[in-house]
Amino acid sequence: MPFSSPIRAIVFDLDGTLVDSALDFDAMRLEMGLSHNQPILEAIEALADHDAARCREILHRHEFEGGQRAVLMPGVPEFLAVVRRLGLHTAVWTRNSRAVALATLARTGLEFEVVVARDDAPAKPDPTALVDLAGRWDLKPAELLMVGDWVFDIEAGRNAGARTALYTAGAAVHDCEGHELADWHFASFHDVEALLNRMGYGECRQ
Ligand SMILES: [Mg+2]
Repeated sequence: MPFSSPIRAIVFDLDGTLVDSALDFDAMRLEMGLSHNQPILEAIEALADHDAARCREILHRHEFEGGQRAVLMPGVPEFLAVVRRLGLHTAVWTRNSRAVALATLARTGLEFEVVVARDDAPAKPDPTALVDLAGRWDLKPAELLMVGDWVFDIEAGRNAGARTALYTAGAAVHDCEGHELADWHFASFHDVEALLNRMGYGECRQ
């Protein structure tokens, strides 16, 4: 069912959601010597200086290369065009670096009111950035929708009191970490009508 008050702003994750940058987090962990499934940013923070610097170099190389090959996820420009016609605010919030995020957005031709990277705010799942965006737009957190492809996106949204949508990119829902926490999930940005309905704009047409 749609929510009682419509969504007024959408905050998107970047890698794996708006763009496919083919980031291989398992390969990064292997190269860094981290254990399977360890969140990379948090693991690096816990390392001694020398090791942390080595791992940051590995991370930056992977992220930079990802930005170079990033391509838009199907349907993203069309969905964003509809969102903008509705007058919704939009932002990107990524655990990637600001430099790589801006280069990726420029490369794929995407523009947002606000870009929040790990340089700018505590990383997801900390909700601070979402709460700050709600304040900036004079909205209640529940009027924000957090869209992402990973459990930290969904946890960040929930921690802020925002709505959450998990993008599965067509994968089996139960294989997507965070599916049980999300308010809903969707397989394609081409499903505009279903997405608008969920966002409280059921009566709208493209
Ligand atoms: Mg992602």
